Parts: sequence; structure tokens; C-alpha cells
Amino acid sequence: MGWNDEKIGRLKKLWSEGLTTGEIGKRLGVSKNAVVGKAHRLGLKGRPSPIKRQDVKVAPAKKAETRIFTLTDLSAQTCRWPIGDPKHEDFRFCGKGVIAGKPYCGEHCAAAYVGSGKSAPRPANTQETAT
Ligand SMILES: [Zn+2]
Repeated sequence: MGWNDEKIGRLKKLWSEGLTTGEIGKRLGVSKNAVVGKAHRLGLKGRPSPIKRQDVKVAPAKKAETRIFTLTDLSAQTCRWPIGDPKHEDFRFCGKGVIAGKPYCGEHCAAAYVGSGKSAPRPANTQETAT
């Protein structure tokens, strides 16, 4: 089985039309595997794939599993380091256990109190978003 320019041209056309590899193979008189292999070598991609669409569906459910800490969820034992932009809906607070006597978890204590001269990302806007 040889791939001449004409055959490759037809492969590209049928591929772009969204035919299955099996169907393309039938029309070109080659095996399905030959079509897959050739398409791969030609870098043919971007066909609308039903698998991809399912992936998109899965994504929001995954997001819902993430625990979102809002200000009302916070207690003296939960890190109140704000994460994200308060204007965005995915804004939340860290919510990890705090270091005794500190308002933040270890990680965010380090971030908050590192080098006073530096412009460390201090959560100055926590108060504003409380209501
Ligand atoms: Zn934290």
C-alpha cells in the first residue's frame, strides 16, 4: 500500500469531514491502522471528538468537590488567608488549621510575616469583604 499525494489529499479531506478512521480506510482501500498511522504522521488533529466533550462535562463536578471556605466558615482555628480575588466567585479562604496564637496556618504565617521590608502579599482586604 502506497501513499501518493492524491491518496493523502483524500485522507486529509475525509479526516476533516469527521469520518471514522475505519470509514476512511474503506474508501481509500487501506486498513484502519494505516489511516491512523498516516494521520498521526501528517499531524492531523482537531477533529471533533466525542471523548473530549465528555471531559468538559466532568470538569464542573470536580470543582464542586473542592471545599470552599467563606468568612462564615472561619473560626479561631482556621486559617483566614484569602485565596484568589474577592471579586471572583471562586474566592475563598485557606481554612487549614492555624498555628496557636496566629491567624494563619504555617504556610501563610510564613507568607504573611516574611521580611517586613518586602511587599509581602498581606491580606489587607479581609475586613472589607466581611459583609
Ligand atoms: Zn493558610
